[in-house]
Amino acid sequence: MRPIQMVDLKTQYQKLKPQIDKAVIDVLESAAFIGGKPVATFAENLGNYLGIKHVIPCANGTDALQIALMALDLQPGDEVITPSFTFIATTEVVALLKIKPVFVDVDKDTFCMDIDAVKKAITPKTKAIVPVHLYGQATDMEPLMALAKAHNIAVIEDNAQAIGCDYTFSDGSVKKTGTIGDIGTTSFFPSKNLGGYGDGGAICTDSDTLAAKMRIIASHGSAKRYYHEVVGVNSRLDTIQAAILDIKLPHLDEYIAARNQAADYYDKAFAGHPKIKTPVRSDKSNHVFHQYTLILEGVDRDGLQAYLSTQQIPAMIYYPVPGHRQQMFAAFETDYDLPVTDYLTSRVISLPIHTELDEQQLAHITSHVLEFCNR
Ligand SMILES: *Cc1c(COP(=O)(O)O)cnc(C)c1O
Repeated sequence: MRPIQMVDLKTQYQKLKPQIDKAVIDVLESAAFIGGKPVATFAENLGNYLGIKHVIPCANGTDALQIALMALDLQPGDEVITPSFTFIATTEVVALLKIKPVFVDVDKDTFCMDIDAVKKAITPKTKAIVPVHLYGQATDMEPLMALAKAHNIAVIEDNAQAIGCDYTFSDGSVKKTGTIGDIGTTSFFPSKNLGGYGDGGAICTDSDTLAAKMRIIASHGSAKRYYHEVVGVNSRLDTIQAAILDIKLPHLDEYIAARNQAADYYDKAFAGHPKIKTPVRSDKSNHVFHQYTLILEGVDRDGLQAYLSTQQIPAMIYYPVPGHRQQMFAAFETDYDLPVTDYLTSRVISLPIHTELDEQQLAHITSHVLEFCNR
């Protein structure tokens, strides 16, 4: 059996090696390492894939979130509503800009923002909401957008884990996650569903005004070289990364299908088990399975992780400490009651999921998970 990894980037690379190697060498030979055609081409192709007017490539998914927030001209003391149950980047950038992160609970089935909780958390200071399409499934965007519109609040979708995911509205229309809010952000970190071979990120919007503003912010606050209008940052997508991502983009849908195949295998193996809850599939969204995450009931999670490790099976806890319990936010309000978040942080475990898992590996993983949970 091939060794099992959380993400197998090596095998995936082997399948595209000739095209990727050529694309990288072309950049090396052009000696145009910053900007240039590959960046513009990839941005255009990604825009077409997502169905969005503007794609602004940047250095990583965290920068993408920061630039998006900066474009909203928020003032210290303003509030941004985000889930506590997410990767730290989502909330860290809020605090970095001296804006108050307001944490809300998540839905226990989708792991995404609970829209009723958002409703209760809105105050006159609320200027933005940042939903996270966690693990690869969409937040319930239709009621969220209605709520945001009614209160004139901007919505920034953190789409780092769900690129390629489709959300279906009640009228049957479908939109890609990251294109529903005012701004969408994503990451091309190697392990993400569309991963580069280094850091990378992108911001998307249909708004010409926001797009122009974010391009300026990402480029030292400047539209014209050496003339700086606002305080900005330096955040660029590497030319080599853009060339690699442009080769991988046409394969994204098949990558998503391969992840779903592995997820289906897991679902079947664990179906009906009293101690294992498999991911709930929302009827409003497909799942792109950035993570395959189980909820354990009455299972020693650390024990399971340690046991799997002895069988050469990696498993991860995403995330062991929720945002509202992180020390970094001590200067902000930390007195939150988020029962679903706390429930999930103590019970979730993510199994290996990627595009290269074979049946032998899946059988090995599921049999050992069951072996431990049946004790
Ligand atoms: C990965 C990730 C980010 C940050 O992306 P980087 O490219 O690593 O900066 C932000 N939000 C979520 C939910 C993520 O999973």
